[in-house]
Order: sequence, then structure tokens, then C-alpha cells
Amino acid sequence: MASIRIPRGTQDILPGEIEKWQLIEEKARELCEKFQYNEIRTPIFEHTELFLRSVGDTTDIVQKEMYTFEDRGERSLTLRPEGTAAVVRSFVENKMFGHAGQPVKLYYMGPMFRYERPQAGRYRQFVQFGVEAIGSNDPAIDAEVIALAMTLYKEMGLKKLKLIINSLGDKESRTAHREALINHFKPRIGEFCTDCQNRLTKNPMRILDCKQDRDHELMKSAPSIIDYLNGDSKKYFEKVQQYLTDLDIAFEVDPNLVRGLDYYNHTAFEIMSEAEGFGAITTLCGGGRYNGLTEEIGGPEAPGIGFALSIERFIAALEAEQIKLPIKEKIDCYLVSLGEEAKDYTVGLLQKLRLAGYSAERDYLDRKIKAQFKAADRANAKYVAILGEDELKVNKINLKSMETGEQTEVQLDTFVEKFTELNK
Ligand code: ATP
Ligand code: MG
Repeated sequence: MASIRIPRGTQDILPGEIEKWQLIEEKARELCEKFQYNEIRTPIFEHTELFLRSVGDTTDIVQKEMYTFEDRGERSLTLRPEGTAAVVRSFVENKMFGHAGQPVKLYYMGPMFRYERPQAGRYRQFVQFGVEAIGSNDPAIDAEVIALAMTLYKEMGLKKLKLIINSLGDKESRTAHREALINHFKPRIGEFCTDCQNRLTKNPMRILDCKQDRDHELMKSAPSIIDYLNGDSKKYFEKVQQYLTDLDIAFEVDPNLVRGLDYYNHTAFEIMSEAEGFGAITTLCGGGRYNGLTEEIGGPEAPGIGFALSIERFIAALEAEQIKLPIKEKIDCYLVSLGEEAKDYTVGLLQKLRLAGYSAERDYLDRKIKAQFKAADRANAKYVAILGEDELKVNKINLKSMETGEQTEVQLDTFVEKFTELNK
């Protein structure tokens, strides 16, 4: 029979690789605690309607990337392609706007699904870590959200980072810009892809984000949103920049940065890797402000801002910068035994060590003593405890430090206490 293979665009993360994921996840959780973001877990699938309304029907995600299916009750459901929509749905549904603790600051971590053409850095199932701060219109929180993402990358060792920011302005600014865009592209829209032709009236700003027509000459000469920001929007954007400067976070303003999702306004940002050989896809993290999204989902007005980054591209960036993560590979103690009775005895001893807080292992393949030592070596054991039949009879066990080679004979019934003393 032919063997069954993994679906296209997905990956198994095996031991040896998973440790990197765990380190990044731990660091992310640790920073969220410091920045005071709480974890939220929402379902892997949602009503399709949620994404149509929030992500927007002119986006790549909605137009061609969603895993949508009908369940047995004939409901249209979609595997979540991103995290913001569900967090905002939950915010509205659970009336978090009514809590005293505003803004509500949340983070999520988990798999997202997009039907994409698989390539380096682009999977059909990938893991995103993201945060959302809902309920504040203070530009300081925009800076905080950006700072959280930058801090995470930096604390994992990344150096070759570039932060680009832009403002998409408020409704008034966007309406003015929208008109200018339509006037700019309309006369020659026939030269653009059909997606862009559809975007012209629905959401012309999305033309600027087109991957197919990015080199068209009209792209470079397109009216810049920066020139259409009204007084309030300009002031808001200046504040965000001032705070970033106060935080010593270097950035570049890129008036062409328009994020993929429909619901963004004011601050938009991306963090890219500038590491050599990182490949064509350099965006590690994207985020922005989405005032108005809560209303789109049927809730009261509540301004929000967030970002999302994928662990896959995070790890790719670490590899591109050749950063070795401090992965704990050693185990505390490997139990080597000789003879039937000693072997039996190690079953209980192993458990005692583990309950005392140590990582410990023994042989399960009836290996000869030499092979047991080899296994201890392979496991990178700090100590090897050797129990022979003669030792067992006199209540002794031999403890060898693999770092110094030093051997000590220890009383067997107080072995764990002795081991603890030695490891202080
Ligand atoms: P791109 O322009 O690369 O398609 P996007 O705008 O679709 O990105 P977002 O929806 O903003 O991406 O998602 C935020 C982050 O999630 C991206 O910056 C990237 O790090 C990551 N990401 C997005 N799609 C994928 C994918 N298919 N595989 C792995 N990571 C992804
Ligand atoms: Mg995409």
C-alpha cells in the first residue's frame, strides 16, 4: 500500500526542532505578562460570515485563501485564517467593553489556515502569535504594541530588523485619499490584473498592496496617503513616532505600506528581516489599528490595535542570522543497572528522582552495560548512577559526574537527598 503523506503546505515539527518553538512561545508569554496582555483562546473555526465582514471581501485572504466548508448542519464554517476577527468577536460577544479594566489587552497563539501556494515562509497551516489592545485611542498604546513585537524579536537575538510604519488616517483622510487613488488608476486600470480592477471601486487602496502589479509605473506615482492625512490623523501619527523615538525604536515611514486587511486605519506597521539570504518574503510581523471593527461585528464602538507574527518566519529569521538558541539538551541523571534485581530497583528510583524535580532516564531495551553508558552519553546526562547487584545488596549506588569524571559511592536509600545536595 502506498504510504500516506503529510498535506501540502503543512509540516511536522519534530523533537530537535520543537525546542525552538517552545523557547519563542515561552518568551512571548513572559513578555505578555510584563506588558500585561492576557491570553485568549478562541475556536479554530468560526462562522464564515465573521471573516467576510471583518477581513473584508477584497482581500487575498477572503478571495482565495480561506478553508471554508459546510458542516453537517449546513452551516458555512471557516478555519481561521487570522486571529483578530475572532478576538474582536469574542470581545463583543462577551461584552468585554463593559469591564472596568479598559483597554482590554489580549494575546493569542495558535494555528491559522490559508490556502496559499506553499513556498519558503508560506505554509497552509502556520502558527501565529498576536496581541490586541481594544478600547484605547491613545497613541502610546500603538507604540506599546510595536514595542512588544520588537522586544520579542530582539530578546531572541535578532539584530537585522527593520520597522516600517505608516498612517492610513481616519475615515475622512481615507475618503479623500480614496478619491485621489480612483482618479489616478481609473484611466489605465485596464493594464492591471482583474483583482485590481475589482478593487478600484471597492477598495482602491488595496491596489497598492497587489503582488502581481507591484512594478507597474502607476504604483510609484500613486497619491500617497501621507499627503491626505487631516489634522487629527497627522497629530496622531506624530505622537506614535515620538513615542517610538522615546523608546529608542528605530523606524522608517513608508507611505506605501498598506496592510492586507480591510479594517485598518491610522497606524500600520511591519517588521522585516534584513538578514542576508532570508529570501524573497521578508515580512516577519504585521499590525495596525482597526477602529471601527467592533461595530462591523455588531458591537459598540471600541478602537483597537494589534499585530500578528508567525513562528515559522521567526525561526527562519533566526536561522538567517545564524542565532543559536540556548536549548537545554542535558538530562540530570541516567540510571545504569546491572542484573535483574538492580534493573527492577531503578523503576522506583527513577520515579523518585523525577518527583524530586530532576530529569532522569533509564534503559528500556535490556542493553548491556556498555550500551547503557552510550545511551547516557547520547542523552547528554550530567550524572550517571550505576547500580550493580553487589551494590544493591549493601545498599549502595555509584554516582559518576560526567562533567568531572568524579565518582562517589552513595547510600542507596538516601540517594535522592544526596543527589540534591550535590546539585545545589
Ligand atoms: P504576506 O504579505 O506575506 O502574505 P500577510 O499580509 O498575508 O503576509 P498577515 O495576514 O499580516 O500576513 O499575517 C501576519 C504575519 O503572519 C505575517 O507577517 C507573516 O509573518 C505571517 N504569515 C502570514 N501568512 C503566512 C503563511 N502562509 N505562512 C507562514 N507565515 C505567514
Ligand atoms: Mg498573505
